[in-house]
Amino acid sequence: MITLIEDPKKELEYDITCMTDGSELNVTIIPAYCASCRRQIEGFFYFQNARIGQVGTIPCNHCGMEIHCTVHDGSQDSIYMIPEIYSEQWSYVGENQLRSHVEIDFQDLYQINTKTMKKLEKILLSEQGEQHFLVELDQSKLELNDLIDQVMSSLKLNELPNEKIMTDDRFNMLPEKVNKWLNLLKVLHII
Ligand SMILES: [Zn+2]
Repeated sequence: MITLIEDPKKELEYDITCMTDGSELNVTIIPAYCASCRRQIEGFFYFQNARIGQVGTIPCNHCGMEIHCTVHDGSQDSIYMIPEIYSEQWSYVGENQLRSHVEIDFQDLYQINTKTMKKLEKILLSEQGEQHFLVELDQSKLELNDLIDQVMSSLKLNELPNEKIMTDDRFNMLPEKVNKWLNLLKVLHII
């Protein structure tokens, strides 16, 4: 299921979770991209994957194209956004060029992955020794807001810059908590 989040104030309520090592990313708030007019669709969307294959459609607010959202497995760490116009070319999705337009990998887009978490762990280790919070939590699930708060309090950071940080040319806006996370990673020189 994919639905527009009508109230931007509610964005923070949509969970983005991962394990302490950065694996098993599960996102429930996502941006959308129209590969037909090559623009980001306005707003953010609630994403809940119930099955393999098509999970929903989004109309592009710019060109009116219907975007089919599909997933290849039961996880919520990536999605394909395929404009109606590409439907007959569905079999091409395996090809890199088309795939690069329609596949959105949230491990890259949100920079929540084993690589960034490993770097973060290293910083915590050098600042706090072996008993930092990631070790204490020992392979449990983290929500992004809590993760940001825990890192900030562990490293005694009071505030973060509020720069708009982009990780993918297709998008010019990411959910607020993702942007906060990216600012944190930048302050720590992880990205
Ligand atoms: Zn469009």
